[in-house]
Amino acid sequence: MGGMSKFWQGIEEAPGLSAMEITWRERLGDAYEWAQPFLRPTGELASSYPCMVNMGCGLPHHVVIHSPDHIIGACACELGCERIRLKRSDIVLYELDRVKLDKGIAAAMGLQRDGDEIHLPRGTARLGTHSPCAGFRFPVYLTVQSDREGLAHTVNDVLARDTTPFIMMAPTRGFASSDMEARLAARGATFLALDEILHTNGGVGFQLTRPLDQVLTQFHAANLPDRDETPALPFFPTPPDGHLPAPGALLPVAFDLSLDCRSVPRLAHLAQIH
Ligand SMILES: [Zn+2]
Repeated sequence: MGGMSKFWQGIEEAPGLSAMEITWRERLGDAYEWAQPFLRPTGELASSYPCMVNMGCGLPHHVVIHSPDHIIGACACELGCERIRLKRSDIVLYELDRVKLDKGIAAAMGLQRDGDEIHLPRGTARLGTHSPCAGFRFPVYLTVQSDREGLAHTVNDVLARDTTPFIMMAPTRGFASSDMEARLAARGATFLALDEILHTNGGVGFQLTRPLDQVLTQFHAANLPDRDETPALPFFPTPPDGHLPAPGALLPVAFDLSLDCRSVPRLAHLAQIH
């Protein structure tokens, strides 16, 4: 997962970065080729370009566009190093495509997309809900912050607005603190670092490094009723079509697949709905 961890670190080092390909390549390293589909042109062009001249000034050169196929990087300082010939593609600015990234993460985690939530803190989006079994839906957020204070502020903001337990995710654990995790835990909420749970699926997308029910064992323990304590409640996975079986129907609870509802009686192959 070496390349991928560079991607998660890279987007956290400079949230909202708008930069040329050369800068993104430097920031993302091995992960650049994989990450390219998640970058989109901002529609703007750079006004300066790094000095690429051997033994040159090392300072940014001014981009001068004479015509679409005659673009130069002119030395801006007294050293007057040679002009750099540039292509238009060299100076196109790219930013992280958060919508595409968020969709890819939501798909890998099997989240139910449920529309955007407005007025969230900067860099924060609601990716969907995690629904481990019928009747339980937990919001999942991704925030990309550049320091500890930013993450703490975001967590406080969501704690203040969302009264249900939720999952807050960030690219890495770099800005998490035990204080922040304690505040989340007090509300049944939890924090996940994406670099610990996702890697590339080999194409343009992600896959979980281990099943979500393993990742969320503690979260489920805190928020799903324990079968032994509430034996009367009939729990079953949410059917794909969202319709509940008719009373008396035989429900194949053994087909719980990845749905780790602790209340599903695993030993039974069929359970009667009362
Ligand atoms: Zn120079």
